Amino acid sequence: MIQNERIIDEYYKMLVEKNSKYEGIFFVGVKTTGIFCRPTCPAKKPKKENCEFFQTAKEATLASYRPCKRCQPLNTPTSLSPEVKKLVEAIEENPQKKWSDRDFDELSMSANTARRQFKKQFGMTFIEYARSRRMGMAFQHIRNGKPLIESQLDSGFESGNGFRDAFTRVMGTVPKRKDQVRLLTAKWIETKLGSMVAIADEQALFLLEFVDRRGLETEIEKMRKKFSAAIIPGSNEVLEQLEEELALYFEGKRMTFETPISMELGSDFQKEVWALLRGIQPGETISYKDLAIQKGNPNAFRAVARANGANQISILIPCHRVINTNGELGGYGGGIHRKAWLLQLEKKMRDE
Ligand SMILES: [Zn+2]
Repeated sequence: MIQNERIIDEYYKMLVEKNSKYEGIFFVGVKTTGIFCRPTCPAKKPKKENCEFFQTAKEATLASYRPCKRCQPLNTPTSLSPEVKKLVEAIEENPQKKWSDRDFDELSMSANTARRQFKKQFGMTFIEYARSRRMGMAFQHIRNGKPLIESQLDSGFESGNGFRDAFTRVMGTVPKRKDQVRLLTAKWIETKLGSMVAIADEQALFLLEFVDRRGLETEIEKMRKKFSAAIIPGSNEVLEQLEEELALYFEGKRMTFETPISMELGSDFQKEVWALLRGIQPGETISYKDLAIQKGNPNAFRAVARANGANQISILIPCHRVINTNGELGGYGGGIHRKAWLLQLEKKMRDE
């Protein structure tokens, strides 16, 4: 049970706001009813003095609270709505398909609701998503050496013009040779602490961030420009491996990652700092100052802190293990409450 008054105040505020960013961060037990809920439960909110806060659903259960029937705190939280899930699955089943309003009817959902939810979740419309998925297939064909015309037909583009238009929207120009195409794959990964987006090519992971991180779109756009790559929704072996390892990590069953990562995007200075970060063991923390000392320059702690903040591969490059010299948590791109949760998880794992 969480005892810290400051944290209780914060959690209570988030409970009243039904703040979805705190999904997975805490669970609330209501003393008067004996029931425990997620932060976002639609039920009427209890008075503060009747609340007990827990870090995990397990702890709430052990304190003999029953799971709420409305918000079902024992089920894996997911911010993908059932409608959006259904749409993504439908695309994966038949990526070549071009969608019309009638298709939405067949899935028995309103085209408008589905479109709105989809846009909210992926930052692009469903049609754009489906199109960029088809584009991804075309890229794969081109890279495997198939001629352009065959690729566009295989990917469900019936004419060269349709393909060209779609391509221009994603990439700027149409490639003449296959070696001009660099393809990065973006995958949505659900975690206990909210959705993350991961971007990788077939060799290594380049980015892993919580999707609500401020400035994420700019970050991704910069990456796209720097690599002159197309970023297409989908999956590959690197991303599958990452998803598996992350699931175990969040369950507290695995603390280390073998998914290959690439620090190609960083400056030499950043790469050195990130390499040091990777040396901090799970369950341990270090201050920005000590990190600067390790880096060989005690006065460089601001630059070290900036390099820390520029990390784009959350959790695998554990920038959350760097805290202020006075023991306070300091900042975190994914949000301070997530940093606290991750450190707590790792400490628990180390001590078990
Ligand atoms: Zn509830």
